[in-house]
Amino acid sequence: MPYYAKDYLVQCQNCRFVFAEKIPSPQELEAYYEGYGRNDYLSPLIVRRYEELLQSWEKYRQTNRILDVGCGIGYFLETAQKMGWEAYGTEYTERAVAICAAKGISMQKGELNPDLYAPESFDIITSFEVIEHINQPRAEMVKFYHLLRKGGAVYITTPNFNSMLRYYLKECYNVIAYP
Ligand SMILES: [Zn+2]
Repeated sequence: MPYYAKDYLVQCQNCRFVFAEKIPSPQELEAYYEGYGRNDYLSPLIVRRYEELLQSWEKYRQTNRILDVGCGIGYFLETAQKMGWEAYGTEYTERAVAICAAKGISMQKGELNPDLYAPESFDIITSFEVIEHINQPRAEMVKFYHLLRKGGAVYITTPNFNSMLRYYLKECYNVIAYP
């Protein structure tokens, strides 16, 4: 993977999983996220996709609570609210937390702290393009497990290293970058 040495990426020879061998410090991450994700445009296509996902999750609705870990400025949860869900989110920056709170989303700043919620109280836990940012992904999954009600659903997305975009853009591909 000649293009990715700068981002400390390595690949498992057994399962081809690609990951960063260098783990950034919390200080490095905080500095990075202060300037992160300032693209505040929501396309109608994405909204339609969110609605589709939520529609397919109707069968899980019991507690009526949904948690989005790393919710950005709340686009997904806003859509969930319109469909009647009680929305909870977590995010790192003051700015994102303030924007989401103004939308009526119950927010928690920083890393997910399961002690702040009732155990097994969520029907759905989502985390879009977040798991690859987390230094202890296994511990994070354990938190999800404790917060999700039995029979609820977890939905996680992460970048696809085999995406056509990466082959097409080569050196200019910037979806995966240290830290
Ligand atoms: Zn492997």
